[in-house]
Amino acid sequence: MASIFLKIINGEIPAYKVAENENFLAFLDINPLAEGHTLVIPKKEVDYIFDIEDPLYTELFVFAKKVAKGIKAVVPCKKVGVTVIGLEVAHAHIHLIPINTIYDIDFSKTKLKFSPEEFKATAQAIAGHIKF
Ligand code: 5GP
Repeated sequence: MASIFLKIINGEIPAYKVAENENFLAFLDINPLAEGHTLVIPKKEVDYIFDIEDPLYTELFVFAKKVAKGIKAVVPCKKVGVTVIGLEVAHAHIHLIPINTIYDIDFSKTKLKFSPEEFKATAQAIAGHIKF
């Protein structure tokens, strides 16, 4: 069965996209730990991140680096934290999360709520600061 992320890639369900090219897509996490919490995925469906073949694997992280710089330019934070979990969605993804303390990257915390307008504004602002 196609993962929820494949449906986002194919445009079957909406997402607040921040960056896209032929092989990768970045979009806001719908249940974010912070404003600007972004997921970066390969368009090719692979469940476990360490099963992604080279050079796609390294290109994913190069793409994520560019997205992280866009996030950092928009969301006030000390750093953009990087996490890979992948226990909920079986399509490899990198979490990019603006952080100020180690506690900001605690996935057991209550997730933040934003309106569609707020998500859209954040996604557009980040997109506007990503340089390819
Ligand atoms: P993980 O697989 O890394 O444990 O978590 C999956 C992440 O994907 C979660 O942070 C969750 O909020 C996010 N997520 C799950 N379904 C959707 C969706 O349909 N749209 C978006 N934008 N994010 C999702």
